[in-house]
Amino acid sequence: MNLILLGPPGAGKGTQAELLAAKHGLVQLSTGAMLRAAVKAGTEVGRQADAIMKKGGLVSDDIVVRIIKERIAEPDCAKGFILDGFPRTLPQAAALENMLKSSKLRVDAVVELKVDDEAMVARIAGRFSCAKCGAGYHDAFKPTKVAGVCDSCGSTEFSRRADDNAETVKARLLEYYKQTSPLVGYYYAKSALETVDGMGSIEGVSAAIEGAIEKLRG
Ligand code: ADP
Ligand code: ADP
Ligand code: ZN
Repeated sequence: MNLILLGPPGAGKGTQAELLAAKHGLVQLSTGAMLRAAVKAGTEVGRQADAIMKKGGLVSDDIVVRIIKERIAEPDCAKGFILDGFPRTLPQAAALENMLKSSKLRVDAVVELKVDDEAMVARIAGRFSCAKCGAGYHDAFKPTKVAGVCDSCGSTEFSRRADDNAETVKARLLEYYKQTSPLVGYYYAKSALETVDGMGSIEGVSAAIEGAIEKLRG
């Protein structure tokens, strides 16, 4: 099963992708995480992406399409994957369709997470993640079970994203409305999309997503 999660920054894509990956044995593919790894590693792609990400813009279609194409071709993705943060533009969606077609694969379900703009900002302000395994947390909404210790791997090191600040969030939200939200119509027209209310609890949203996937796979 191959899935796409759509939604503005802070909607809960990463959180829900983590749950879906564990539940269904899927590989989580986050272009944001891949780009942050490239920035950290100081690769050519990382150098190009860094300045754009700091400003809250979108990295070029060429770069992200190349990254995803290489990653999807790896053997572990054959068991199914969940795309979190890709595609983000119509050309990226078209490129995805082409690469899947040539491997005789398809997208089984696209789930859009809908959240209020204010909730999104609050979610981003409190976001942090485990520096070792990448598990996602929130100061108020999803704290670690034991303070300062990762639930998943026991690490005591955490990080916050450089682009999770009030200024950049506005730019990222604008990019979402301008460039990414047209994908909602694109996938709806293909009868591949369900919209889920992302304002509930993490567990509530998770249950709604499972329902949406079942409906689409009918
Ligand atoms: P995205 O990947 O869409 O940017 P995340 O999954 O990283 O969003 O979620 C943003 C922040 O909000 C994280 O700190 C996460 O723990 C928290 N969060 C996610 N889903 C919910 C929810 N349903 N209710 C409250 N907080 C949430
Ligand atoms: P969020 O979870 O808050 O939506 P991501 O981690 O998905 O953020 O992405 C962080 C940043 O990485 C984006 O603001 C953008 O600069 C870049 N990025 C990630 N995925 C893409 C993509 N598919 N196309 C272009 N830029 C991307
Ligand atoms: Zn961890």
